[in-house]
Amino acid sequence: MLASFPNMGLSRVAFKTLVECMGVDVVLPDPTNREAIKIGVKYSPEFVCFPFKATLGDLKNALDKGADTLIMAIDCGPCRFGFYASVQERLLKEMGYKNFRLIPLDQADLLSFRWLRLIFKIGPSNRLTLYTKALKAVRFFLKKAKHLEDIQTAEGIFRAYERNQGDTTRVVNKLVKQLDETNTIQGLRAFRNVIKDTFNNMDIDKTRNPLRVGISGEIHISLEPYVNLDIRRKLGEMGVLINQSISLYDWIVHKFHLNYHRKWLEHLARPHLPMDIGGEAVWVIGEYIDTATAGFDGFVHQYPFTCMPEVTARTIITNHLQKIYDLPVIYFSFDEQSGSEGFRTRLEAFVDLLHARRDKKIEDQKISIDAYKKIAYDHYGNNFYNECVQFVQTK
Ligand code: SF4
Repeated sequence: MLASFPNMGLSRVAFKTLVECMGVDVVLPDPTNREAIKIGVKYSPEFVCFPFKATLGDLKNALDKGADTLIMAIDCGPCRFGFYASVQERLLKEMGYKNFRLIPLDQADLLSFRWLRLIFKIGPSNRLTLYTKALKAVRFFLKKAKHLEDIQTAEGIFRAYERNQGDTTRVVNKLVKQLDETNTIQGLRAFRNVIKDTFNNMDIDKTRNPLRVGISGEIHISLEPYVNLDIRRKLGEMGVLINQSISLYDWIVHKFHLNYHRKWLEHLARPHLPMDIGGEAVWVIGEYIDTATAGFDGFVHQYPFTCMPEVTARTIITNHLQKIYDLPVIYFSFDEQSGSEGFRTRLEAFVDLLHARRDKKIEDQKISIDAYKKIAYDHYGNNFYNECVQFVQTK
């Protein structure tokens, strides 16, 4: 058996471990690229969501590389995600790929443990070995997913302080490779310190006062840098500190009903959107309020073109929340037509606006920049985020 799954940024490292720990070989699709998008667009229904097209291209690429088992997440949410796997399987068969099976990974409610059926489907037939391997697979998967989240968190902070442009990207690539190759429980336990030490050893300029921006949106767009035109790197290289709480780990913990941060965001969003309408809509609204309350300078909302839940969240922010919280927000709707030049110009204009607003605020309130920063950091972000912020702010 040779298994594969579509790309979603760095998450491939965690998914790869999940499958490999079950004793199954993995072939990764090439990183999402123009060719994969072209194929996805060509064979998908025109108005289907953009992540459907991008992942269809990845799956075809995996089949071309010899995969015979494809794993695709499904959900029972109120939007189109629930149909991805079955429609993609049909399209791939129509494209001429007959000898593969597509296993839907049901992640609607992980506490129902239906996902274990998938793990068992790809595992060995011996019952005892099967349970031992499944336990190890889940444990390693969760640990790697958490470390990937920490790498993403530190990346968003340190890039705004790096002296040599590109250092953070190099550190991230190095850590991701190292994490991919770490396959012992001791190594994974120690990896949090590896991340901290590697970032802390970077050559950074602690005298800077970067703008702080929260970033949120639909999960596939938020995590896959090719489809979001690498927005987090671009903002960071413009000297902006960013925090994005959406990650694979964040999503998995939420599906186990243990994500208290998401529950907090739902609480904040409830007066404005009292139910889950699909995508990340509820949490985007919560994030906007949380980010504004924490004194951040701006907010970025990214989503796929035609994504109904995210467009609803956008409308609520524009028509209602912005008047209450007065936090500048920029929206990016991505699809196969998105080009990098207009995108960069919009980002630069947004960053200029945020600088002007912050300067005026500091002048009006007659406070120092250090006092201004303290307002924001008292109650925001997870432990790792706060440890990193403390490090870059300690002179
Ligand atoms: S969240 Fe948006 S992009 Fe994702 S399946 Fe639903 S409608 Fe499509």
